[in-house]
Amino acid sequence: MTKLVILGTAWVIPDKKHENTHMIVQGDNGCVLIDSGANPIVSLERAGVDPHRLEALVVTHFHPDHISGVPMLLLNLWLIGRQQPLSVHGLRSTLDKVEAMMTLYEWTEWPQFYPVTFEKVSAFGESLVLETQDVRILAASTHHLVPSIALRIISRTTGRSIAYSSDTSPCDALVRLARGADLLLHEASGATAGHSSAAMAGAIARLAGVGRLALIHYDVKASLDELIDEAHSTFDGPVTVTHDLEEFDL
Ligand SMILES: [Zn+2]
Repeated sequence: MTKLVILGTAWVIPDKKHENTHMIVQGDNGCVLIDSGANPIVSLERAGVDPHRLEALVVTHFHPDHISGVPMLLLNLWLIGRQQPLSVHGLRSTLDKVEAMMTLYEWTEWPQFYPVTFEKVSAFGESLVLETQDVRILAASTHHLVPSIALRIISRTTGRSIAYSSDTSPCDALVRLARGADLLLHEASGATAGHSSAAMAGAIARLAGVGRLALIHYDVKASLDELIDEAHSTFDGPVTVTHDLEEFDL
C-alpha cells in the first residue's frame, strides 16, 4: 500500500507542533521525499520511515523553508552508511542552487560519498519528474517568487492521485495538473505575492474538480476553523487542515 505521509505543515515559520512543509511518499518498494526544510532524518524517524529506503528527493523550489534540510539529509545519509545512489529532481535553477550550496560545504571532499545525481524537470507544460515501482510523479511550473513546481503523485497500483501545490498564487497550470485528483494538498499561507489564501485554494480545488481539499503550508497561529470556512466559501467538497504526520492513502 502506497501512502503520502505529511512530515510538516507549517508555512515559513514552524513551531513545536508544525515543521516546515515537507512530505514523503511511502511505497512497498521505496520512498520519495518531497522538499526538506526541517532536518529530514528527524522527520523520517518521527514518521517511522527507515532512511535507507529513500530512493529520491524532489525539491519544489529554492526557498529556505523547503530546502535548508538538504545538506543535513545528504550528510546524515552518508554517515549512516548509504552507498546506493540518490537522485535529486527539480527545475534546473533549483538544482543549480542546491549544487552550489553543497559546493560551499565542500561535499566533493567527503570520502566514499555515495553518488548523487541531479535530474532536471522541464519548466514547460506537464512533465514527468520520476517513475518508481510505486508511483509516477508529474510536475507543472507555477507562479511563485522564484521558479517553483506543483506535483501530482499517481499510484501505479490503484491509479489514485494526490496533487500538491507547493508555494504558488492561483494559476491555470495547477488547475490542469490537479484535474480530477482524489486529493489536492494546497498551500494557504495568505493572499500575498506568490502565495494563496484558503479561499484561493478552494477556488483551485473547484476548478480542478478534485475529490477533496486539504490545506497545508498555513500560518500555524491561524484559526483552523476560519481557514476551513474560507475554503468552503469557494469549494463545496470536503475540506480539512492537515496536521504533521497525517497520512493519505494512495
Ligand atoms: Zn516559497
